[in-house]
Amino acid sequence: MSAEIVSTAPATGEPLGTVPRTPAANVDELVAEARRAQRDWAARGAVQRANALGALGRLIERDADELARLLAAEVGKPLGEAVAEVGRAAQICAYLAGVGYELGGIVRSSGDPAVTILARQVPVGVAAVITPWNFPIAIPIWKIAPALVAGCTVVWKPASPAVLTAERLLRLAEEAGLPDGVLSAVFGGGETGQRLSESDLDALSFTGSTEVGGELRRALGGRVRPRLTLELGGVNVAHVLADADLERAATDITAAAFGYAGQKCTATQVIAAAEPIADELSERLRAEVEAIVVGDPLDRAVVAGPVIDERTATGLRSEIDRVSAGAEVLARANGPSDGAFVAPTLLRDADGASDIVSAEIFGPVAAVVPTRTEADHERLAGASGMALTAAVYGTDFDRIRAMLNVVGTGVVAVNRPSTGLDPHAPFGGWGQSGADFSEQGTEGLRFYMKWQTVYWRGASAQAHFP
Ligand code: NAP
Ligand code: MG
Repeated sequence: MSAEIVSTAPATGEPLGTVPRTPAANVDELVAEARRAQRDWAARGAVQRANALGALGRLIERDADELARLLAAEVGKPLGEAVAEVGRAAQICAYLAGVGYELGGIVRSSGDPAVTILARQVPVGVAAVITPWNFPIAIPIWKIAPALVAGCTVVWKPASPAVLTAERLLRLAEEAGLPDGVLSAVFGGGETGQRLSESDLDALSFTGSTEVGGELRRALGGRVRPRLTLELGGVNVAHVLADADLERAATDITAAAFGYAGQKCTATQVIAAAEPIADELSERLRAEVEAIVVGDPLDRAVVAGPVIDERTATGLRSEIDRVSAGAEVLARANGPSDGAFVAPTLLRDADGASDIVSAEIFGPVAAVVPTRTEADHERLAGASGMALTAAVYGTDFDRIRAMLNVVGTGVVAVNRPSTGLDPHAPFGGWGQSGADFSEQGTEGLRFYMKWQTVYWRGASAQAHFP
């Protein structure tokens, strides 16, 4: 195995740079260093840790342009989305820098009047974070920032296609003054992630495919530690009801299905359209898809750049041909469709029987499936076993409220795209899309903390507080 990982620009196939691969034996050493650093990091207290995160957020903001361009080139994300992602990373740091000031615990009186109960929240210890390439700065930050504020130290395994963005972020963390061992990274492929997952950890937070998430759970098998949280894939359905604003639905769904060439866990893949509006919606979507600009991700006008690499593109082109065979092709966007480029493709699957309703494709393809009854929506919602996000378009309040249970997903977007999340509300997939903890918001801190409950008898018989 080569001693270096080469990062390649998907749009051109040209190498952008390299990082040294972390030798397997060093993985355990980095985890041991994180353990040595953890006690002092925890001892600083939440306010100082929060301040350090605030500093990191300001550095991300300072270098936002450069980071966004690097990220866009490295993973082929259209520049506008890359800028938004970097902004989001800075915002998450700022948010958690504030939340850090609120950490502590709870005070209760006891049945025994001489006793006060103090329940303290303390860090679980050393956390490993394993992340995918498609949000190479926002996802790492939304895992790392709460871990650090909570008082954990972190060993991070970034995705191989995004190592340069990862290295840049690590340098900013150093500049922000994070002490040695508080945040470090291991660079390598799946085997490095596996090695990390088997090391001496207290917590393991993974985002990526359902397949690898399942492997991690199997590998941890009968072990009591580490605690594990998984954010996995999605086959996300947009349910368009008969009274929906179709202009809005068509614009949103096009962005959610084809933005960043469909490479988002929250991308819309299935469009469940009520029969009376299915033709008009298809027509509007067809016009939108034909107007999608495909090309260089560094060009501000581009909506769909390349997919992550040429090999993936070859697989996607044949996968799209395969699912198209059982459906009607409504539209294909113009532009390059060779190398790492795949033409955004809109299908109509009259009876929702093709694999597009049941398996995550993770590329620029979506299918309209007409529906007659609520049961049709329920069947499409459940067809993949995944339950990450859903969109519901309509205007009748009671109907939409009923749909919240029908869709059965961790996130529901009403009259807005299935993609896009705020960082201060809980986020987590249901079903095959994730387990066991939610991320983001104050909820996201829970994974990195444990309770120590203190029953404290005072000197006097009436010493309880409150
Ligand atoms: P992936 O192949 O599952 O990889 C995710 C991470 O795990 C990468 O760092 C990868 O390393 C590493 N890895 C691979 N095999 C491993 C193993 N056996 N043990 C430990 N680590 C291992 O996913 P991806 O291709 O990067 O990302 C796409 C997937 O992520 C899609 O399914 C998408 O839906 C999902 N996703 C989910 C969310 C969410 O929040 N629910 C968000 C974004 C993406 P290498 O890169 O070196 O292979
Ligand atoms: Mg992969």
